[in-house]
Amino acid sequence: MSAKIQIPVSTLGTPRIGPRRELKFVLEEFWSGKLDLKGLQEKTAALRCANWARQNSLGVENIPSNDFSLYDHVLDTCAMVGAIPDIYDWQGGLIQPSTYFAMARGETQEDSCCGKSVRKGIPALEMTKWFDTNYHFMVPELSPDQHFALASTKAVDEFREAKCLGFKTRPVLLGPVSFLKLAKSKEADFNPVMLLDRLLPVYEEVLRQLRDSGAKWVQIDEPCLVLDLSETDRAAYRKAYHVLNETVSNLNLMLTTYFGKLGDNLSTALSLPVAGLHVDLVRAPEQLEDVIAGASPEQVISLGVIDGRNIWRADLQAIYDWLLPILADHQDRQFELAPSCSLLHVPIDLELEKELDPDLKSWLAFSVQKIAELKILARAFAQGVSVVAGEFLAASNAIAARRTSEKVHNRLVTGRVLGITPNMSQRRNPFPVRRDLQQKKLKLPAFPTTTIGSFPQTPEVRKSRAAFANGSLTSDAYDAFVRSETEAAIRWQEDLGIDVLVHGEFERNDMVQYFGEKLAGYAFTKYGWVQSYGSRYVRPPVIFGDVSRPEPMTVKWSRYAQSLTDLPVKGMLTGPVTMLQWSFVRDDLPRRDVCAQIAFALRDEVIDLEAASIGLIQIDEPAIREGLPLRRAEWKTYLDWAVECFRISASGVRDDTQIHTHMCYSEFNDIIEAIGAMDADVISIETSRSKMELLEAFVNYAYPNDIGPGVYDIHSPRVPAIDEMVELLVAATRQLATSQIWVNPDCGLKTRQWEEVKPALANMVEAARMLRESV
Ligand code: GLN
Ligand code: ZN
Repeated sequence: MSAKIQIPVSTLGTPRIGPRRELKFVLEEFWSGKLDLKGLQEKTAALRCANWARQNSLGVENIPSNDFSLYDHVLDTCAMVGAIPDIYDWQGGLIQPSTYFAMARGETQEDSCCGKSVRKGIPALEMTKWFDTNYHFMVPELSPDQHFALASTKAVDEFREAKCLGFKTRPVLLGPVSFLKLAKSKEADFNPVMLLDRLLPVYEEVLRQLRDSGAKWVQIDEPCLVLDLSETDRAAYRKAYHVLNETVSNLNLMLTTYFGKLGDNLSTALSLPVAGLHVDLVRAPEQLEDVIAGASPEQVISLGVIDGRNIWRADLQAIYDWLLPILADHQDRQFELAPSCSLLHVPIDLELEKELDPDLKSWLAFSVQKIAELKILARAFAQGVSVVAGEFLAASNAIAARRTSEKVHNRLVTGRVLGITPNMSQRRNPFPVRRDLQQKKLKLPAFPTTTIGSFPQTPEVRKSRAAFANGSLTSDAYDAFVRSETEAAIRWQEDLGIDVLVHGEFERNDMVQYFGEKLAGYAFTKYGWVQSYGSRYVRPPVIFGDVSRPEPMTVKWSRYAQSLTDLPVKGMLTGPVTMLQWSFVRDDLPRRDVCAQIAFALRDEVIDLEAASIGLIQIDEPAIREGLPLRRAEWKTYLDWAVECFRISASGVRDDTQIHTHMCYSEFNDIIEAIGAMDADVISIETSRSKMELLEAFVNYAYPNDIGPGVYDIHSPRVPAIDEMVELLVAATRQLATSQIWVNPDCGLKTRQWEEVKPALANMVEAARMLRESV
């Protein structure tokens, strides 16, 4: 049977950055003054035009506009509604690029005061992760007396711009309730959702302008509908869409939800008077039936069936077979085909990858390929499956090949994960026993000093790594260079009197990439950039196969560093959860299993380091917290396996080998039990900016193991004074036992300059010495 069902294709949003990172380079030229505003506008207009033209030529029916952004779409929304904090000195009217970029990046200004020039630093808005992605948005800052007013016509301008070029687009707006829910207020008890009534008139105005400019539909993103919501939130949703429906006539809204299931918000979502609803059917395929059953007959349902969060080629036949009977049963309803979410989170075009293994390449789909997949599905529904038989077969063959490929499957690795026993994630003895043994061996003073791992990645370090990568520096010469950097770092730490040294990580490009390149099962792309924030893009590694460690990854450098000194040198590894979290992960295994594979590879490394006489080993897990699922009900399952994987990596060693971990973020309260369960002998955390307030979670939990609360804010070039660090440490002694406290910076020092690092660490060592004398 062959149904003839017409289904338009939507993309919900596409990458802004350009296939060759054009946006980054244009912005940097503009910021450095090499390009004027007109130049910026022309060049970014060309990028938008290319984006629309690409989608148009691929046959996309609902091409988005206003999905482009110079920096971030949440910041664009702040601009649209005039949510501009006072410090940016906005005088009303339309927001200018200088204010927009000040909010994005902060600003240092020369101010004239009493004849003297005073530097006035204006900070950027805070930045945080967009749901569970690695994209960061600028956090709107709203006050209880916040007023809103239209301050940017970007949405309308870009719609018109597209129209002039001959593209009929569907503008995208971040919805009012999600905007407010993502905002923060300086007033602790104030919930920004309370501002809805004041915000809605601006949305009404924008929607009317879009309609009057010719838009028939507007995509309005409400991803917060997949979060745990309060009754207040749900009421806000009902209110918002009721008001918009009443006040803006003759315009259709496609309410877009993504990153998860609607779950207990389903009836709220279905009760909203909107013309269309988009649902994520990759993360939550099971919700489709309920959505169709509950939607009103004339509502368009947008089926998010192609994964917008990952890069694997889809099984088109399987999607077709799943959807066909459903579509056939609902011939009277209009559907759309779409990615699960905006394509912002995947790289642009796989075809640019010329050096990727051809098998692996045949298993992947980037943004362009995903749009093609949607069009193939649409053609299958419209003209019958036979017209796309070749494409379906190619997809099925690729998936079958991937399922059986030797490049993917390694029985030794899967066997190890299947054979996990509880004792593998268990140190031999509890912490008090280990602590005594470690102390006997290491003989560290009270308030031992250490650093988090990396030292400044100077231009010379980067230059020689690049030269080695492109073949202009021999491997011997590169080795000699890294050796001399490492030796200098060791000598210099010795001179300072740091107690536990590090080798400096000069050989590492990036804490995940370095290990990914040494592990089997990982691959790297050349052009697979995705936006992390603003003009910062990352190329996440691809975990495509069972992960194993062909040979030791760090032993050579740790052993070399240790050979230079009698002081202990700490080994340095990136933990399994972080290795997982910052990669594109295969979709044919549960994430927990992939993580466990990495954990075993790291466990072997830890054991090898111990055998090479490395007595302290740090396993960094800065990404554990950001792996938390969006819904609280799923947290425990995640934390259980995340902690288990960390422990598998850490538990292969003797009791007198000291395991450290490191985390750098500011929210420990809700995961403190899991952190306790990790049972690292020492944890170093970021605390200097919060003035040790972060320790509260550890104190309330009565965290028993050792802690190094960061005393030096490495995000700032400022050299902290001895007094400041003493003060922070004294604050720590009021909350923790003296014997628990280590002295270290907040994080690695790779982004700093030696001129800052050396005096700062000298001060840190002196601060520790003063504390030792006072106890
Ligand atoms: N060891 C790493 C470093 O010092 C830790 C980095 C991190 O926490 N992000 O660079
Ligand atoms: Zn860190």
